[in-house]
Amino acid sequence: MDFNLSEEMKMLQNMAYKFARLEIAPHSSEADLEEKYTPEIHKKAAELGLVGSWIPEEYGGVGFGVLGNALITEQISRIDMGIGVNIVVASFGGEAILHSGSEEQKKEYLPKIASGEYVSAGAYTEPNAGTDVSGVATRAVKDGDDYIINGQKMFITNGTVCDIMVVLAITNPEAKRRHDRFSLIIVPADTPGITKTKIKGKLGIRASDTAELSFEDVRVPQKNRLGEEGRGFAQVMHFFDTTRIMVSAQGVGLGQGCLDEAVRYAKERSAFGAPLGNFQLTQAKLTEMAIRIEAARNLVYKAAWLYDQGTPDFNLAAMAKYFCGQTAVFCANAALEIHGGYGYIEEYKVQKFYRDAKILELYEGTKEAEIMTIGKTLMSQ
Ligand SMILES: Cc1cc2nc3c(=O)[nH]c(=O)nc-3n(C[C@H](O)[C@H](O)[C@H](O)COP(=O)(O)OP(=O)(O)OC[C@H]3O[C@@H](n4cnc5c(N)ncnc54)[C@H](O)[C@@H]3O)c2cc1C
Repeated sequence: MDFNLSEEMKMLQNMAYKFARLEIAPHSSEADLEEKYTPEIHKKAAELGLVGSWIPEEYGGVGFGVLGNALITEQISRIDMGIGVNIVVASFGGEAILHSGSEEQKKEYLPKIASGEYVSAGAYTEPNAGTDVSGVATRAVKDGDDYIINGQKMFITNGTVCDIMVVLAITNPEAKRRHDRFSLIIVPADTPGITKTKIKGKLGIRASDTAELSFEDVRVPQKNRLGEEGRGFAQVMHFFDTTRIMVSAQGVGLGQGCLDEAVRYAKERSAFGAPLGNFQLTQAKLTEMAIRIEAARNLVYKAAWLYDQGTPDFNLAAMAKYFCGQTAVFCANAALEIHGGYGYIEEYKVQKFYRDAKILELYEGTKEAEIMTIGKTLMSQ
């Protein structure tokens, strides 16, 4: 068993952290306060191979795998998870194209995503179907060589800024098994009939674009479907194998960012004639943060490594997602407490970490959804 990262992976880690400090940090506060999407930072990141870094070289990517992508995500989220989403989620939906798409589809879309020419989105959630993915009601009905899509999607990251979206829709309503009714379809974002409404006023990750989408008689060729008809539900579940690892890495990065800030502040700020860091109660908080972050990191790296070995572990990815979300929320709370009243105002980074952290227990499967996955696996053994 070798826990060392390769030299290439260490370089990647350093490059991502440097990029985050130099290119993201200066824009962090403004993008957050003004809810500003940051396309120019996405483009610069793509030039360095930081966007869709999991995309294999044969499809125009840098081929760093899920582990490489986790390392990038961690380092970027350590500085700013909101702008970070605009980089690491710019390829969202592309994972499904790589896993389930035809050779033609992979060659058409993945190089454009990796180069930053395209931003993609994964549109699964609906106003009445989130955790219960099988409750999706959007319909895709055949018409000649096309599908006509009607329905609503909710909370779609990159919804108003994407070039393509991978949409989950019912294509086989007559299927006996509920899960066999769905397909994933690539929809160009400029197709007539799509209305995009940006959702404003999010608690955190405010630089990221989140949208409500409405599809009214949206016509796309059937050749845009990923794989066989009726495989959409299974494809989305497979999609979560990789994206849950990425979201878990966001949690590790945000937790580490909180620890960085808390240690710095504990050295600088004095009370009762000594730096805060000299007090055992402060050290206890820092220690608890450090232990949880390290445990979370190990879960993420193992899940990513297994994926890259060709033996993905869906259950482990769910464990990582559950634990990393909680770790991020815990660390943000502890870091804010160490900052006292100053942690509660805009000037200090920890208030943003605190707001950003909560999404990690909600999206890509709520923490309850992860418990359900892990519990089911335990009971089926
Ligand atoms: C900022 C943001 C970005 C997002 N980006 C995307 C995206 O890019 N693409 C996309 O498709 N979706 C996206 N989502 C949607 C996100 O994945 C969903 O919000 C999430 O899956 C939860 O669904 P819901 O909001 O409908 O909550 P619900 O499913 O209604 O759940 C509400 C509560 O009930 C709990 N619950 C549900 N079922 C059970 C059960 N059986 N047992 C116990 N508790 C249960 C949940 O855990 C939760 O606590 C995003 C959401 C946000 C907020």
